[in-house]
Amino acid sequence: MSLKTFCTRFHIWGRTVARRDASKRSYYNSGSSRLHEPGRAAHVRVVDLRSDTVTKPGAAMRRAIAEAEVGDDVMGEDPTVNELQKIAADMFGMEAALFVPSGTMSNLIAAMVHCRERDDEMIVGDLSHLHIYEQGGSAQLAGIHTTTATTLADGTLDLDQVESKIRHGYPDPHYPRSRLICVENTHNIQGGRVMPLHFLQEVRALADKHGLSVHMDGARLMNAAVALGVPAADILQHTHTVSVCLSKGLGSPVGSMLAGPRDFISRAVRCRKALGGGMRQAGILAAAGKVSLLDMVERLQEDHRNARTFAQALQTCEPPLFAVDMAAVETNILRFQIREPALNPAEFCDRMAQVGDGEEGALGQGVQVLMYPHFGNCVRAVWHLGISPEDTQLAIKKLQFVARHCLENK
Ligand SMILES: *Cc1c(COP(=O)(O)O)cnc(C)c1O
Repeated sequence: MSLKTFCTRFHIWGRTVARRDASKRSYYNSGSSRLHEPGRAAHVRVVDLRSDTVTKPGAAMRRAIAEAEVGDDVMGEDPTVNELQKIAADMFGMEAALFVPSGTMSNLIAAMVHCRERDDEMIVGDLSHLHIYEQGGSAQLAGIHTTTATTLADGTLDLDQVESKIRHGYPDPHYPRSRLICVENTHNIQGGRVMPLHFLQEVRALADKHGLSVHMDGARLMNAAVALGVPAADILQHTHTVSVCLSKGLGSPVGSMLAGPRDFISRAVRCRKALGGGMRQAGILAAAGKVSLLDMVERLQEDHRNARTFAQALQTCEPPLFAVDMAAVETNILRFQIREPALNPAEFCDRMAQVGDGEEGALGQGVQVLMYPHFGNCVRAVWHLGISPEDTQLAIKKLQFVARHCLENK
């Protein structure tokens, strides 16, 4: 019996391929592909599209972690952290950079440094991560007042509206003082949208006109850079400061980089310590960060390609249950709608996550696809280094199976 016949007969072809990939590329499928649940087939494949935060470090990154030279970073003596900060500053075209535990802390520190007088205010998009998902930390912990501008479908802001939100009354004691405009790139809630460079240029011109600073929540900045095909520094020439996550598509277990002018970073070091983010032998983590910035950026385009492949399958799916705006599929985050009113996003996600009757026969193996219902009656799926092209094809087969099955049950 040929290898292929053998593998097909025993339903292990997908896993064999995946395993060969894993040894070759070291980043796919680092998690377990089996679910050891009683009464369930041994080889259920899990395709986890919930978020690009679920990535696990592969062999090369684990080796770098194991071999990292370390020191006390609160004393500025961790050589690996110092190297990472230098690499990030150069890559971002900024004077200096700081390694911080999370994107949330990074944005909070940025807000604290930009808005450090009691009456300071910042302007953020109403659907920004900073505003929606960070527990209002800038108000809660730093006493900063926020005003919002409407987030447009492509993640940008209406700049006339932003300008109308700038306080012109200072020092009239009725008003806070506008200090900062925050933008998000790529835009998370709006589906991984890439900020056009001309938009950033206009934001900066507006900020300059009124003496404000621009901070970019660039959690997925490198996805934007790869999608535009430009160096990150080209994007960041329009911003004063930036926060970039290492722990999303770039695959580190922990950490973000905050970057900006030298005096900004000096103040940021103080805020990080006050927030409890001063870490000691952090080179253990920074070693992973170095791998992220040096080796994991180019591969982001594979995630973008896989997201697009899946989006195309949604469009051609029979029966035609799904609606997706292909022009909005720019990076690794895909949002789509379900056109069948009887199937809501939560139910659909449940179905995709279960191994249904007859599925193993139809697909050759059980496949669990994990996705989240999302803003605006959508489903969100996110591609990352744990998802190979083969996983994407399996997810498509599963999608088609679920879609057919939905119709049969009507
Ligand atoms: C994930 C994310 C953050 C926060 O990063 P954490 O490391 O999870 O705290 C900030 N902004 C955006 C746009 C994000 O996607």
